[in-house]
Amino acid sequence: MAKTSLAAVFHEAGQPLTFPQYELPTLGPGEVLVRITCSTLCGSDVHTFLGHRSTPVPTVLGHEIMGVVEGLSTEQAVSDYEGRPLQVGDRITWSIAASCDDCFFCDNEVPQKCEHLFKYGHEKIVPEHPLSGGLADYCHLAAGTAIFSVPDSLPDVVACPANCATATVAGAIRVGGGCEGKSVLIQGAGMLGLTVTAMAQSRGAHEVIVCDVDAERLRRASQFGATQTLLVSEDEQELIASVGDLTEGRGVDLAVELSGATSAVQTGVKLTRIGGRYVLIGSTFPTPPVDLDPESVVRRCLTIVGNHNYRPEDLAAAIAFLVEHGGRFPFADLVNDGFSLPDSEAAFARAVKGQDLRVAVRPET
Ligand SMILES: [Zn+2]
Ligand SMILES: [Zn+2]
Repeated sequence: MAKTSLAAVFHEAGQPLTFPQYELPTLGPGEVLVRITCSTLCGSDVHTFLGHRSTPVPTVLGHEIMGVVEGLSTEQAVSDYEGRPLQVGDRITWSIAASCDDCFFCDNEVPQKCEHLFKYGHEKIVPEHPLSGGLADYCHLAAGTAIFSVPDSLPDVVACPANCATATVAGAIRVGGGCEGKSVLIQGAGMLGLTVTAMAQSRGAHEVIVCDVDAERLRRASQFGATQTLLVSEDEQELIASVGDLTEGRGVDLAVELSGATSAVQTGVKLTRIGGRYVLIGSTFPTPPVDLDPESVVRRCLTIVGNHNYRPEDLAAAIAFLVEHGGRFPFADLVNDGFSLPDSEAAFARAVKGQDLRVAVRPET
């Protein structure tokens, strides 16, 4: 077994990544050492790389990670989310963050907002725990991480986004009250939007309407189960009329917003039917405030709900979805799988171009 791990370390936007070797850790109770097989760069990694969002530095970026158990705590057995004891060689992924299970927020069903959160790909490198991100040969899992076994049938590049994109989508649909029999509107056809589209289709939505400003993205949405695609123009009345035509004039039962654009949020409120639900997921960066008519929210009995990240149960649902339905949709085609860990700088340069919804980085074997 190796004694050290290469890592791609991010210091500051505009500065080159560095590639130090770190000693592999001595595992404490409940901890796991994972040999990483693949990481995909998420939009938030790219935003951090470009300096559009801040993170404690230096850090090892990358949180959509797949790997194989290389070492286990000898002091305490570690089990996966299903309760199966983990063994060396198991193929796994894990929740984006480890929660303490003991604080106010953990006790109140938002463990992703734990007061003692340890978030992979977002932690400052410290001497006792440098390996906490995906752009490395190894990742050191903290106690309290929800770990999931992944079947061999699910390729790395399809499984990697599970612990951010797919699980976030599963959480969005959960807070939206499910999809079965509903008309669902998806605003934004990026990685998350395509995933909502496929999940809504798989979970029995009777209408899956996707809107975006980009015709090419909409073409792809059709491959992910969209029953209708609508190009967003400057004039929101066109979109309101089109959605009205598709919903007998009522608006949709469930709308999910993934673009984060102020104008999209304002329009989405109008596209949701009386008594419907509007789930906001995309607003993870500062934007101008939304002009909201509170009377319309009251009189139209709207539920508007935000959700950030997810609970472990959502990652369980995400993996189950990919195992059962992933093969029906071209998820693998969304990933550019051409970069090794020492090429991480080039991988980011590729991701910044925005042509690929995900860029994969693999340690050299
Ligand atoms: Zn992410
Ligand atoms: Zn907590």
